[in-house]
Amino acid sequence: MFGRRITVKELAEILLTPEDIARRVQELGAEITRDYQGKELVVIGILKGALPFMADLIRQIKVPLRYDLMAVSSYGDSTRTSGAVQILKDIEMGLEDQHVLVVEDIIDTGLTLKYLVSNLQARCPASLKICTLLDKPSRREVDIHPDYNGFVIPDHFVVGYGLDYAERFRELPMIGILKPEVYTGK
Ligand code: 5GP
Ligand code: MG
Ligand code: MG
Repeated sequence: MFGRRITVKELAEILLTPEDIARRVQELGAEITRDYQGKELVVIGILKGALPFMADLIRQIKVPLRYDLMAVSSYGDSTRTSGAVQILKDIEMGLEDQHVLVVEDIIDTGLTLKYLVSNLQARCPASLKICTLLDKPSRREVDIHPDYNGFVIPDHFVVGYGLDYAERFRELPMIGILKPEVYTGK
């Protein structure tokens, strides 16, 4: 298939092919569909990284839903967290009494989600759950656990399927480990 043959010179290794991702997204959609049977959902995608994941996931969730997007910053153009989280764009809908599912690309230190969860919890949703495509538990600095998780991955800086390095590589259909020389410049 296309996904297996395509080579990207900046990638040291392909961790997840487009087929791996599609299969898992379908499973997550089925799980979420079961859990929210008879309910309506509000899905909040965290820009920009979660955009491809959210777009694919919402089409695998078979309960009525509305979605909105939020942008936060925790990383600049580097591969390390700044620790400071800032809301760059807020959602437009109210969350009171709503069943809310936050969709993230990756949980690394957990600082971003920790902040987001307490911020969204203050808006009095009926329930609040987290769905992340990737989880790097070895890097966790705060106690936060996703309710739905696509893949647990080792501690490497990954790009593709929404994940960037300095705004590049988001468009790749696969997820891969970036060659360290790309960000060290050596
Ligand atoms: P946390 O606050 O959990 O440390 O970081 C979450 C955010 O950091 C993610 O939403 C993502 O934007 C960025 N991030 C963390 N690990 C990686 C990674 O391996 N690759 C990329 N491209 N971004 C990452
Ligand atoms: Mg993110
Ligand atoms: Mg980024």
